[in-house]
Amino acid sequence: MTNEYYQNLDKQYIANTYKRQNVVLTRGSGSTGFDAEGKKYIDFTSGIGVNSLGFCNENWVSAVTAQISTIQHTSNIFVSVPDTVLAEKLCKAAGYSKVFFANSGAEANEGAVKIARKYGADNKGKECVNIITMQNSFHGRTIAALEATGQDVFHKNFYPFTGGFRYVPMNDKEALEAAFDETVCAVMIELVQGEGGVIAADKDYVRFLADFCRDHEILLIVDEVQTGIGRTGTLLTSRQFGIAPDITTLAKGLGGGLPIGAVLMNEKTEGVLSYGDHGSTFGGNPVSCAGGVAVLTELLDCGLLEEVSPKAEYIREKLLEIPQIKELSGLGLMIGITLADGYTASDIAAKCAENGLLILTAKTKLRMLPPLNITKEEIDKGLEILAKTLE
Ligand SMILES: *Cc1c(COP(=O)(O)O)cnc(C)c1O
Repeated sequence: MTNEYYQNLDKQYIANTYKRQNVVLTRGSGSTGFDAEGKKYIDFTSGIGVNSLGFCNENWVSAVTAQISTIQHTSNIFVSVPDTVLAEKLCKAAGYSKVFFANSGAEANEGAVKIARKYGADNKGKECVNIITMQNSFHGRTIAALEATGQDVFHKNFYPFTGGFRYVPMNDKEALEAAFDETVCAVMIELVQGEGGVIAADKDYVRFLADFCRDHEILLIVDEVQTGIGRTGTLLTSRQFGIAPDITTLAKGLGGGLPIGAVLMNEKTEGVLSYGDHGSTFGGNPVSCAGGVAVLTELLDCGLLEEVSPKAEYIREKLLEIPQIKELSGLGLMIGITLADGYTASDIAAKCAENGLLILTAKTKLRMLPPLNITKEEIDKGLEILAKTLE
């Protein structure tokens, strides 16, 4: 079958919610993908930070296929093996005491919102349910996660919301103080705004925020759906900011390509929800969790995590040698690229695809989220295509 055959099916039968690039991906290996006609692409997208180990990593495939042919689903009324194994590994490595498994980033954030509201009500009374989030943030597409998202473009057309969110500009301490009152139970932040344009928060502000939350006895929720699982060079990005949030949410890179989300809880938050307060039919699915165990094993036990920062430095250095690139943002392998005047990121991304390179955009920037185990050859090849395309 040709690419066009699938593109026509897509246009005819799949809801028009995604603006697709002109690419049909049918198979892949490492950071190299192929379309239906055998054309080869270097992948700087990793499925938006999902394929942490690239396409079809051998150890990940064996873990997932072994699990799927052992037991594929159990229901959360029984104890199962992969989620307990993943929970222990994740909690120990991330420094948390408990985890709730969901299926996506939005769902993980919904879980965090529920914990924050119950925590507020339990500790300060039933009026204490408001959550402060950042302008330009992105927390997902379900109604509460959408409302938490501090961007009007995503809100319009989908009112009414549930209420209970207040927005402040990131890195503005006075605005945070002004938005706070006794009805606030939590603050939620991405340490590097991803969809908002790959913008890192100031370290000084984040430390202030953590102290502020502690002093006012409210929860600090860090949305690491995109920044987590080694993306920026440490398992959690919060550690680079010197903070220990009360709740961290994860998703994208955790399953290595299978749907999973996680809400990590510390001593303060682990006991907030009790029996019946939250749940998910698919949450903790054995196959997804087996994928998660394989990702953490590569990262933590096989030395992949240590490779992330040097790789990121190498790519960033090379990118800055390209004359049409003005500026870089983000942290580690979460890279925002500001192009020189006259270049439109979405046009360049489309031309890169024509030339065999898959690359993302975020607002007006190009954005790279390559697989964490991308090889030097794939990096060099991809950067060569990017440089030639910009020329
Ligand atoms: C992608 C993303 C989400 C939403 O995750 P889904 O799995 O698409 O629901 C939430 N927060 C951040 C920071 C994200 O990057």
